Amino acid sequence: MACGRCGGWMVRDSFVDLRDDTGRILFEGWRCVNCGEVIDPVVMTHRLDAPHAPYRSQTRDRRTWERLTAA
Ligand SMILES: [Zn+2]
Repeated sequence: MACGRCGGWMVRDSFVDLRDDTGRILFEGWRCVNCGEVIDPVVMTHRLDAPHAPYRSQTRDRRTWERLTAA
């Protein structure tokens, strides 16, 4: 598996998250040996999720915001 950030090598690793409010403390994930990027199952799920229909292909950059508020 290649890192999505730097293309480096990712290895399976176990992580301890004491602040996780889902009740899980120990979880399995992927860690990049090159840049340290961590991908856990929660992050993976969020990244695979396509944006919901009302927001698809919409951006909220400053120009868009000015156009919307000028009307
Ligand atoms: Zn990386």
